[in-house]
Amino acid sequence: MDETVALLGPPGSGKGTQAVRLRERCGFAVLATGDLLREARSAGTDLGRRAAHHMDRGELVPDELIIAMVRDAIAGLDGSPILLDGFPRTLAQADALADALEARGRALTAAVLVDVPDDTVVERISGRRQGREDDRPETVRERLRVYHGETEPLVAHCEERGLLRRVDGARDADAVEADVRAAIRGS
Ligand code: ADP
Repeated sequence: MDETVALLGPPGSGKGTQAVRLRERCGFAVLATGDLLREARSAGTDLGRRAAHHMDRGELVPDELIIAMVRDAIAGLDGSPILLDGFPRTLAQADALADALEARGRALTAAVLVDVPDDTVVERISGRRQGREDDRPETVRERLRVYHGETEPLVAHCEERGLLRRVDGARDADAVEADVRAAIRGS
């Protein structure tokens, strides 16, 4: 079966950096929900407008909007290996993903947790100054709170299903990449 891998981890854990590397070096089709939402905002679509105020507050965009967006995106992919960056982020999203993949004869083959402590997240995001509205310190704290409350339960969910691979994300991107690739190969 084609690989279908989800990257889990807090904001600022470097999931996006790893996703780009896996696309370029391993041929994964990357589906990055944060990027898709930011594109929808720039394009001024209905989805973009509805997502905007949640994103700026550091909250999750409601499940029904995200799930519909991801279903469409998955339907547009061919048979290549898929890497999900930033999805699923809730248990409801994980269930919807399982259904959407099953309908295409696929299933999640691994969930790689890029783990980084909160203090490192705050340092990294305050240093990177990408100019994102949600990178303000109080919004970063809210994103971390949401991660621990809503997304971290997925770690146990994936662990119970034998899908979880943990990688120490508090290192340079090359070291993290080596471990992510090993985690995926071993899955
Ligand atoms: P990060 O992982 O650093 O928080 P992302 O670009 O993945 O950055 O996400 C930015 C914002 O987009 C999130 O704070 C949230 O508002 C929204 N978002 C992205 N993915 C999801 C998702 N799967 N469910 C709900 N909201 C999402």
